[in-house]
Amino acid sequence: MADEAGLRISPFADYKPLMDRGAALVEANRCLNCYDAPCTRACPTSIDVPSFIKKIAHDNLRGSARVILEANILGASCARVCPTEELCEGACVLHDLHEEPIQIGRLQRYATDPVVLGQKPLFQSAPPNGRRVACIGAGPASLGCAAELAQLGYEVVAFEKASEPGGLNTYGIADYKMDYATALAEIAWVKELGVNVQCNTEVGKDIPLASLFEDFDAVFMGVGLDGVSAIGIPGEDLEGSQDALDFIAELKTRPKEEVSLKGLSVAVIGGGNTAIDAVTQASRLGAERVYLVYRRTRERMGAYAHEQELARRDGGIFVLEAAPAEILGEYGRVIGLKCQKTRSDAQGGLEPVPGSDFVLEVDRVFRATGQAKHRAFFEQLEGLEVDDRGRVIADEDGRTSVERLWTGGDCVSGGQEVVNAVAEGKRAAQSIHQTLEGAR
Ligand SMILES: Cc1cc2nc3c(=O)[nH]c(=O)nc-3n(C[C@H](O)[C@H](O)[C@H](O)COP(=O)(O)OP(=O)(O)OC[C@H]3O[C@@H](n4cnc5c(N)ncnc54)[C@H](O)[C@@H]3O)c2cc1C
Ligand code: SF4
Repeated sequence: MADEAGLRISPFADYKPLMDRGAALVEANRCLNCYDAPCTRACPTSIDVPSFIKKIAHDNLRGSARVILEANILGASCARVCPTEELCEGACVLHDLHEEPIQIGRLQRYATDPVVLGQKPLFQSAPPNGRRVACIGAGPASLGCAAELAQLGYEVVAFEKASEPGGLNTYGIADYKMDYATALAEIAWVKELGVNVQCNTEVGKDIPLASLFEDFDAVFMGVGLDGVSAIGIPGEDLEGSQDALDFIAELKTRPKEEVSLKGLSVAVIGGGNTAIDAVTQASRLGAERVYLVYRRTRERMGAYAHEQELARRDGGIFVLEAAPAEILGEYGRVIGLKCQKTRSDAQGGLEPVPGSDFVLEVDRVFRATGQAKHRAFFEQLEGLEVDDRGRVIADEDGRTSVERLWTGGDCVSGGQEVVNAVAEGKRAAQSIHQTLEGAR
């Protein structure tokens, strides 16, 4: 079924919809309240899951939200976007009893939405302690750090180059998991804790990096990753060929009718979660045919199995063991993607199969072949250690090789989940606090 814009009815409907009270009470009462709960151990922010669920069962929603948000300030986002199948719900002991795991993500949303989206105050900040910390970027890592420090009495300023805060949580997460407005509403609530966000301010361009070390007691770097680099095949500059992240950001920030793909054919290049998100969303925007072109086998795809299944159910056509060779164009616009079959050689490397060229007739090509690192930015930080893959090297508290510089999130991990970034930002905040307190 399609509406006038050619979009399927409710194509971006909630993936994990809000539970009503009855459903939440039934679900909460299924929890076995395990001691040393595996779900808590599987959560990167160590939320005391049995405790927040028990409070829901006792109709104490505010108490439940407190347990969640004390551990994870972006608990409302994480309720929607965490790959719970791989994290808390994946560890639920009910699996051993051949029962469905507790729907932890949906219960978390039930508890946090009224506080966070209702803009209700929950925490009291400590009185100002006279210390200042700058965050570079205002994505989940910086927000995790900034919120923790603000509650300890620090003056925190997060400098963000985009026009809105939130990083990929605002601009990159699939719209059917969390929309743009929800991400921004959560950040409005976080700002009430005393976090100051200055958008449209690129550090290293609009303000010099050195000034942060002069004006602040410590600096947290949460710059994430850069855009998807060009693949290096002819035709990438044609109209209709795009970075998958730009496509996703457009569909999240513009009216859906303006970005409709009704009747078009699309090829997405890549095998990770970004590629899967691009396939799913292109299909929900009305594309007639959506190919996922990946050079290896399905088993080698980086995307989670449950997300692959979602893309397949959305009609994604997987073109495996095929590498893009050229984007074909006419009058400056994409008309096809020429591919070549591949096979693994004896060493596990890939080799093209001679004479196996074929063309997919498509109107759009989205590349989702992995995000680049902010190498040029890191070079501005004298003495900053980076590994051979361009990831910043930090200890487990986020301390870098540069004095008074901490870090966390995707720029360290190379790309994980929102919940990991929040956890690392919070850990760095605690380390900053201990260090600055020790220096008093
Ligand atoms: C397409 C896609 C889908 C995803 N889906 C999920 C999902 O469903 N669930 C999930 O948990 N995770 C998902 N992730 C991963 C998740 O979004 C990231 O792990 C998380 O956002 C990382 O947070 P971060 O703060 O490290 O970086 P980012 O979110 O990238 O934030 C970094 C911020 O720093 C800013 N910045 C960079 N350089 C500068 C500078 N010089 N000056 C000022 N600001 C700067 C950027 O503009 C950005 O706002 C997805 C990622 C992608 C790409
Ligand atoms: S933050 Fe994510 S991983 Fe942790 S308990 Fe909540 S939904 Fe599960």
